[in-house]
Amino acid sequence: MMARTHIAFASLMMVACSVGILQRMPQLHEVAIAGAAGLLPDLDHPKSTFGRIVPYISTPLAAIFGHRGFTHSILMVVAMVYLLLTYHHNHNWPVLPLVVGYLSHIIGDMLTPSGVPLLWPVRQKFSLNLFKADGPMEQLIYRLCWVGIGYFLWVAFERPGEIWLQPLQAHLETQLWQLFAHSKVFVVQWVERLAAT
Ligand SMILES: [Zn+2]
Repeated sequence: MMARTHIAFASLMMVACSVGILQRMPQLHEVAIAGAAGLLPDLDHPKSTFGRIVPYISTPLAAIFGHRGFTHSILMVVAMVYLLLTYHHNHNWPVLPLVVGYLSHIIGDMLTPSGVPLLWPVRQKFSLNLFKADGPMEQLIYRLCWVGIGYFLWVAFERPGEIWLQPLQAHLETQLWQLFAHSKVFVVQWVERLAAT
């Protein structure tokens, strides 16, 4: 996915997490941090947004692991969560937005044909192959991310708008909660734990 789609998708995930799971207002600074963290995994590419800012990090990363390598894996996420939870007391890091943004990038890349090596160091790449990066489908998804952010803000501010929109809101909410239901206990426990840091 392109940088701007990663930012939009990460922002959507953060807003959805605040409103849908934690049931509180989205915080602007958290959304901004998640948006930036949504670009972090591409530090393994010297031409990426952050890669150009810190070439002395991105160039060796690209040489050792290659693009879409270690930084796009579950192992990296686990290591990151472990380090953040272990050392956050000293630095007061915004753990939840960092993790949400970072995860959103891996999920986003997984939707494209190139896929991600989720189980790195196993080299196999996992891809849902839903759309090509920067193709018309990605353009649509980029726009839908903003629609989704609008939806969650609307729920957060409890302004249901026109009467004809209410069944749609109820329908979307039912769908969303069904989606959460399967992994709800696990996700809620983790999110609350991260939010409490
Ligand atoms: Zn990537």
